[in-house]
Amino acid sequence: MDHGVRGVTILGSTGSIGINALDVLARHPTRYRVMALTAHTQVERLFEQCQQFLPLKAVMLDARAALQLKEKIQKAGLAVEVLSGTEGLNTVATHPRTHIVVAAIVGAAGLLPTLSAVRSGKRVLLANKEPLVMAGPLFIDEARRSGAELLPVDSEHNAIFQCMPASYRAGSVPTSVRRIILTCSGGPFRNTPSDELTAVTTEQACAHPNWVMGRKISVDSATLMNKGLELIEACWLFGVTPEQVEIVIHPQSVIHSMVEYVDGSVLAQLGNPDMRTPIAHALAWPERIEAGVKNLNLMEIKRLDFEAPDLERFPCLRLAYAAARAGGTMPAILNAANEVAVQAFLDHRIGFTEIAPVIEHTLASLPANQDIELGAVLGDDARARDVASRFIASRTARVGVGAL
Ligand code: NAD
Ligand code: MG
Repeated sequence: MDHGVRGVTILGSTGSIGINALDVLARHPTRYRVMALTAHTQVERLFEQCQQFLPLKAVMLDARAALQLKEKIQKAGLAVEVLSGTEGLNTVATHPRTHIVVAAIVGAAGLLPTLSAVRSGKRVLLANKEPLVMAGPLFIDEARRSGAELLPVDSEHNAIFQCMPASYRAGSVPTSVRRIILTCSGGPFRNTPSDELTAVTTEQACAHPNWVMGRKISVDSATLMNKGLELIEACWLFGVTPEQVEIVIHPQSVIHSMVEYVDGSVLAQLGNPDMRTPIAHALAWPERIEAGVKNLNLMEIKRLDFEAPDLERFPCLRLAYAAARAGGTMPAILNAANEVAVQAFLDHRIGFTEIAPVIEHTLASLPANQDIELGAVLGDDARARDVASRFIASRTARVGVGAL
């Protein structure tokens, strides 16, 4: 099937997912044309990407960074229009010459531009999981209305999507599916005793054994909140209940997740841990394209291990289950509290084991709204950030940063 050249916008092109997406796109210059690239503040990296891919537009969220980028682009004589702010992001997410939008911003900041892309009927590659956690049903409804294609890029959800029957539609699980088995590497502290977790540094938390990722998702992988967010992401995307999702620790990260059918068949998707596989899959689906990923060497891997997650040492996973069961805007509250707590940890304002108490306090302080509409989600997101920030401020004032 030849659709002609497909225009691609990458929201968050300077991050780990953005760079992997550009690597795949660069292998297929006659199939894809990069239309727009965006970043928060990284002028130098976005400028280099503009030189290599010559997009029509480049967006810097930060206005001062946008001016710096504009100057560099003019000096280099490139025909790239520079935009800024959330307006700029919305413009490139909905641009008529863009067919595919890669949602690769980190955190809730990606919600509005990703929603704009969905509303304008694009194929949307969902790496940015936080907006889905916050407002999954909104994304599914808007996609049904506009005809947008929602394709998961999170490796587990992409694996589940690949194992689903052909009749699968976003948001509703086929009756032939019994269960989803969501695999989890266990993160860098899989075997670390509880009493040693209090002293872990940001560097240790960001050193993931199998994947190189941005700092926020790396910390989430260390607390296992990443798996909690992925549980909620799976419930919304595939229309299952939390009880239909089993989380299994699988340290080799070779099986990316599985789908169990009513007849007892279990389908798994395997591959080297390389995000270029799910990115290439979602870009070309239902076709397949080369992604630059090396062969899976089972002789080298030798064995695949599985164990149950430890909810005592990793309370964030327990909190995510509670939010998933509560539904409504509770996942948005969980996500906001987690974003605030992780940032405080990365800024050395709280310790690693203080992340879960911040989230627990926030969940207990705010009632969830059962209606998932945009205003309620954004309102609860803001309230949760406020509660979490005050809790952190009160604790650091009492204990002193050094003691944490
Ligand atoms: P990253 O921190 O490496 O990159 C984030 C990108 O978003 C950068 O381009 C940055 O400039 C941009 N950005 C940051 N804050 C912004 C803001 N306020 N407004 C606009 N742009 C902003 O993150 P990442 O590891 O690439 O992850 C991106 C998303 O993909 C996250 O939601 C993460 O959970 C998800 N994800 C990542 C991986 C991975 O392997 N890295 C795997 C699965 C899912
Ligand atoms: Mg994942």
